[in-house]
Amino acid sequence: MKIICIGRNYAAHIEELNNEKTQDPVVFIKPDSAVLPKEQDFYIPEFSQEIHYELEVIIKIKKVGKHIQQKFASEYYDEVGLGIDFTARDLQSFLKSKGLPWEKAKGFDGSAVLGKWIKKESLEDIQNLDFKLLKNGVPVQEGNTQLMLWKIDEIIAYVSKFFMLKKGDIIFTGTPEGVGKVEPNDYLTGILEGRELLNVKIK
Ligand code: ZN
Repeated sequence: MKIICIGRNYAAHIEELNNEKTQDPVVFIKPDSAVLPKEQDFYIPEFSQEIHYELEVIIKIKKVGKHIQQKFASEYYDEVGLGIDFTARDLQSFLKSKGLPWEKAKGFDGSAVLGKWIKKESLEDIQNLDFKLLKNGVPVQEGNTQLMLWKIDEIIAYVSKFFMLKKGDIIFTGTPEGVGKVEPNDYLTGILEGRELLNVKIK
């Protein structure tokens, strides 16, 4: 199982990090070891002083596909959820400044938090989903999938040109603005269309 992540998919988040819009989606991968085991707390790793949360809508691939056409993309997933793409922002900034790959800042153990899955059919419009992240009960990120620069079907078509998608693969579709640092004892809650799907404690 692999986790494919899309970066810079919401204009306001691109601005808050002073990044440039790109012609094509920014794509990176987290290894399966990045998945935080269920019900486990997230421990801030010793190599970073600045771990950021990024709440993202995620989808789970249900069958093998390669070079998937956009018009068929919706047949390749039927579960949707919320995930947190924990990012060692200090390390990522350093690696970016050197023109080096980000893997250490993005793919470390526990950096992918997966919430509960819900059936796509139970949602009216996949490209009009409200989602938000609460930190210690206070909203810090709010987004709607309408604001994605690349829609979910476009993402599936694009990434499947490079990476064969397999059953169980997960796609993180990018984070809206409001990313920020976590501290020990914080707790994060992810809500999609009023449903609480994700909870994680920071240690
Ligand atoms: Zn992200």
